[in-house]
Amino acid sequence: MFTTAIAGSLPKPAWLAETEKLWPQWTTQGPELQQAKADATLLWIKAQEDAGLDVIGDGEQARQHFVHGFVEQVEGIDFVNKVTMGIRNNRYDAQVPQVVAPLRLKGRVHAFEAQLARAHTKKKLKFTLPGPMTIVDTVADRFYGDKVKMAMAFAELLNQEALALQADGVDIIQFDEPAFNVYMDDAADWGVQALEIAARGLTCTTAVHICYGYGIEANNNWKKTLGDEWRQYEKVFPALAKSSIQQVSLECMHSHVPMEMMKLLEGKDVMVGVIDVANPAIETAEEIADTIGRALQFVPKHRLIACTNCGLAPMSRAVAEAKLKALAEGAKLASQRYA
Ligand code: ZN
Repeated sequence: MFTTAIAGSLPKPAWLAETEKLWPQWTTQGPELQQAKADATLLWIKAQEDAGLDVIGDGEQARQHFVHGFVEQVEGIDFVNKVTMGIRNNRYDAQVPQVVAPLRLKGRVHAFEAQLARAHTKKKLKFTLPGPMTIVDTVADRFYGDKVKMAMAFAELLNQEALALQADGVDIIQFDEPAFNVYMDDAADWGVQALEIAARGLTCTTAVHICYGYGIEANNNWKKTLGDEWRQYEKVFPALAKSSIQQVSLECMHSHVPMEMMKLLEGKDVMVGVIDVANPAIETAEEIADTIGRALQFVPKHRLIACTNCGLAPMSRAVAEAKLKALAEGAKLASQRYA
């Protein structure tokens, strides 16, 4: 009854990249690296299918980081001379590339892994792209001088790639916008509008993932400052409810997000985060089914998708595999309980 899907990223095996890092260095290079990316993609497709998930992803094995994987294929960006910049409202410093000229795609960005994944699963295939606002927050601007203008320029490029991914046979295109939970007013003002440009003309399912970030130390410390009730979603959900985007995610497992936030998403499919990505402890099926049960007070059964809170990338491979299984088992238990 309940569809299961992951937010997007999965850990990279040690023979592909450094493990348990958010910006890992590749272990190899050239044709060997390309082969390793392909092997890791296939490995995770199999792991998701074996776990029993309904929607399959490429696990983002072919990109170093969820934003920079896209940005690397954009002309007008100096990817060699990176600078240190505080991102997510200065929550942490990152080495980011610089925008130095008008933006243009060099060509296809994710054709390799999308086509590979499509050829190796008959299940629904979801593909993730960074959202325009989150990209803008993860590059240094030395050219546009205007955040909104630059976001709209990125949105056009994302749209090009999204349409091509759809032609590759992708069923769901998801834009990742963790920045929506940081710049809530901007998100409602222009972030959703930029997102709709990125999704323009798509006839496949469209989704947006908004979270409180990966389980890295900077994010965990930030969450401690957010108080007992996390109401960040309250500003952007009404704008998303009015948008054309069909699926919206939110964090639920071990989070301080009031469940009633889901009421603001009437008419949308809701990806309910039932797997914590900041804690290696494996959720029990009972725990997951309970969370789904609480969400059902606010989301109709047919609109609930059981999902992870965020990506599993910086976790260990064994923990991620166990969490995929837990997700499927918890959703199955909930299906029996709430049928
Ligand atoms: Zn996330």
